[in-house]
Amino acid sequence: MPDAPLTPVDVLVLGGGAAGLSAALSLGRSRRTVRVLDAGEPRNATSPHAHNLLTHDGTPPSALLAAGRDEVARYGVEVVTARVVAARRVDVPGDVGWDGAGSEDTGAADAGSSGAGSDGAGWNGAAHEPVLEVRTADGGTHRARRLVVATGMRDVLPDVPGLRERWGRDVLHCPYCHGWEVRDRRLAVLATGPRAVHAALLVRQHSADVTLLTHDAFAPDAEQRADLAARGVRVVPGRVTAVRVEDDALTGILLADGDVVPCDAVFVGSRAVLDDAVVDGLGLQTTALDFLGEDVGRAVAVDATGATSVPGVWAAGNVTGPQHALAASIAAGSLAGAHVNASLVTADVAAARAARITTRP
Ligand SMILES: Cc1cc2nc3c(=O)[nH]c(=O)nc-3n(C[C@H](O)[C@H](O)[C@H](O)COP(=O)(O)OP(=O)(O)OC[C@H]3O[C@@H](n4cnc5c(N)ncnc54)[C@H](O)[C@@H]3O)c2cc1C
Repeated sequence: MPDAPLTPVDVLVLGGGAAGLSAALSLGRSRRTVRVLDAGEPRNATSPHAHNLLTHDGTPPSALLAAGRDEVARYGVEVVTARVVAARRVDVPGDVGWDGAGSEDTGAADAGSSGAGSDGAGWNGAAHEPVLEVRTADGGTHRARRLVVATGMRDVLPDVPGLRERWGRDVLHCPYCHGWEVRDRRLAVLATGPRAVHAALLVRQHSADVTLLTHDAFAPDAEQRADLAARGVRVVPGRVTAVRVEDDALTGILLADGDVVPCDAVFVGSRAVLDDAVVDGLGLQTTALDFLGEDVGRAVAVDATGATSVPGVWAAGNVTGPQHALAASIAAGSLAGAHVNASLVTADVAAARAARITTRP
C-alpha cells in the first residue's frame, strides 16, 4: 500500500537546479506554498566554475545552488532531496491511478493553502482546477495545484573511452561558458554530426589552433571545408578511440589509425536526454531538436510563459532546451514562477466568487 500523500502544496517544483530554484523564489515570494523535489545532480556539477553569469562569474556551481537554497528558504520554500519517479495529473477522466486501481479522491478542494476548489475558473484549457501528483523513489507521494518541471537534461556523449571522466574540466560543451578559460590553447572539436562545423568556427574565436575531428560522424561539404580553411581550422578524418590524459590533464586525442592529435581541451556536442518518467508520465508534448541537420535529442514544448501542453504544468531551464545557459535558465524559472502564481490568482478569484454566489441568501 503506498504512503498517503504529504500535505498538498500550491506548487511542486521538480528539480532544484538554477531554473527550479528561480521558479521557487518567485513563488515563495508570492506567498505560495512551494516544495522543491530535487535529486541533486545538476548538469554542470563536474565543472569547477560557472562562467558567463553576470555578478557570479567564476562561482562554483555548488556554491550557486547553496546560495539559491538559502534564498528560497527565507520565503518558506521546502527543498527536499528526492528523485521523482512518476508524475501524473489526477483529476482527468480515465485516470487509472498509479497501480491501475482507479483514481482516489482528487483532493481538489484542499490541494493547496489557498484552497481553490474544483469550481475554479478553467485555466489554459483546463475545465477545472488541475490536481497533480508525483511519486518519489523513497515511496513518498506529493500533490499540488501546479507543477513546474525543471528536471534539466542528461548529456549523452559519444562513446569514447575517457571522455565522460573529463566532462566539464577539459572536455567542454560550450565556448560561451568555458572558451575564455582555454583561449590560445590547442583546441579540438569532436564531431557528432554537421553541427560540429558551427562549433569549430565558434571555438576558433578563442584560439588559432583548432582541429575538427570528424570521428566518422559526417564529412564536411565543399562549402564547409572552404569556411573552415578560411579560418585555418584543420579537419582530421577518422574515428576517435580514446582521450590521452597525463598528470590529470588532457594532452591529446587518439585516433583509430594510431595517430594522436595533441590538444589541451576538446569541445563536444551532447545529445539531450530528458527524464522520461516525469515528461512522459505527465504526457508533456516534446519537440525533436534539430541543430543544423543533426538530431540532438528532444525538449519539452512550452509557450512564451513556460506553460506546457498539459494544464497546470509549466517547465523551465534545460528540460525545454539544451541551449539555455544558467542566466537563461534562471530567467525562464522566474518567468514561469510568475505565470504559475498568476494562474493561481485567477483560480482563487473564481473560487471566491463561486463561494459568494453559493452563500448568498
Ligand atoms: C559541463 C557543463 C558546464 C556548464 N557550465 C556552464 C557555465 O559555466 N555557465 C552557464 O551559464 N551554463 C553552464 N552550463 C549549463 C548549465 O549547466 C545549465 O544552464 C543549467 O544547469 C540549467 O539549469 P536547470 O535547472 O535547467 O537544470 P539542472 O541544473 O541540471 O538542474 C536540474 C535538477 O533537477 C534534478 N532532477 C532531474 N530529474 C529529477 C527527478 N526525476 N526528480 C527530482 N529531481 C530531478 C537534477 O538532479 C538537478 O538537480 C554547463 C553545462 C555543462 C554540461
